[in-house]
Amino acid sequence: MHTNIADTALDATSTKNIRLVDVEKKFNGQHAVNKLNLEIFDQELLVVLGPSGSGKSTALNLLSGLELADAGEIYFGPDNVTELPTERREISMVFQSNTLYPHKNVRANILFALKIAKVPQDVQEQRMNEVARLLHIDQYLNRRIDQLSGGQRQRVAIAKALVKRPKLFLLDEPFAALDAMLRRELRGELVRIHRELGTTMLFVTHDQEEALAIADRIAVMNEGELVQVGPPLDIYNRPVTTWVASFVGPHSINLLDGELQTDGGKGYVLTKAGRFGVDPGVFAGAGAALPSKRVVVGIRPEFTALSATPSADSVSAEVYSRQNFGSSVLYQLKANGADFRAVVPVNHLYDIGDRVNVEVSWSQTVWYDPDTRKLAYAAMDEAGPRAAVSPARA
Ligand code: ADP
Repeated sequence: MHTNIADTALDATSTKNIRLVDVEKKFNGQHAVNKLNLEIFDQELLVVLGPSGSGKSTALNLLSGLELADAGEIYFGPDNVTELPTERREISMVFQSNTLYPHKNVRANILFALKIAKVPQDVQEQRMNEVARLLHIDQYLNRRIDQLSGGQRQRVAIAKALVKRPKLFLLDEPFAALDAMLRRELRGELVRIHRELGTTMLFVTHDQEEALAIADRIAVMNEGELVQVGPPLDIYNRPVTTWVASFVGPHSINLLDGELQTDGGKGYVLTKAGRFGVDPGVFAGAGAALPSKRVVVGIRPEFTALSATPSADSVSAEVYSRQNFGSSVLYQLKANGADFRAVVPVNHLYDIGDRVNVEVSWSQTVWYDPDTRKLAYAAMDEAGPRAAVSPARA
């Protein structure tokens, strides 16, 4: 059982890793999945994240054997399973709408797979009790599925899938039909169960919040291609393209076209919204990494601050609209006519029409080449003493 962080470190070199190598799948001549190279580490919870139609379910179906690849290979550890039918792959699946037998009780549903696999009776009971306990469904083992709530049914579906002890557990938007509160609760359960059992899991979702919340690593897909794979904080702090930056994050990132400028020995980025004074270390880092003075600078709304008084680095803006989330407020601002979003703690309450001054936490910014839209510089990676003194959220 995993109890500490060291235990859960992922092993990129494990011989049990599952690999997709140059996998392709077309439907009607169109690539649903294109040259997919992805490794699922042993015991990891990998989330495949992407918008609708990006090829997530197809990737999952290729792993399950529900779809067969047009090209490429799939390995489960050393075994090439590319041509292997679903029932021989030792996988389990859970979908948004479950495949339980509605008129049978929970017990019968969970045991069904084990009966088929001719698992000995005493082992069946033992395993069922284990998953029932893990998923807190032991109180209603004798209830029929059609007498359960949506959340309870998904718990049973997960139990039924886990009881088989699969090599790979595939989940395709399993909580999408549940309300937000229940979804969060079940996600938490899944993370805990994953830790406890150490099952290798692949979880498909279009919901970036869900992905950031539960993943060991996230694989971001767009238009059938893998765009970025890495730990959640890496995806959040170092999105490799402006597309990933826009897709991942609790609030829409500000992407400002701009130009680096030096004035009186000080570094600025000149944008449509105004001229921001940039932290010297970040300015130097971005300048060195970018091919020209032109840039798209990515500023997450949550890494800004608003102030009633201007500073040498701030940009003036007007409050256009605001939304109060309880612990924070999202301000939609107009700076020089350009849109800018800021999310700040609730204790700074400005009204629509108020003038405010926008400060940026430069140590959290990301800088893109405007021609390729690819990441040139993530200020997080700033080395040396300047990083230590760059302003956090003051
Ligand atoms: P996602 O899971 O990210 O929403 P999918 O993998 O379901 O994306 O779909 C990727 C692309 O492949 C889409 O354009 C979709 O229309 C197409 N597609 C998926 N499955 C089929 C199918 N069985 N027949 C035809 N087209 C399909």
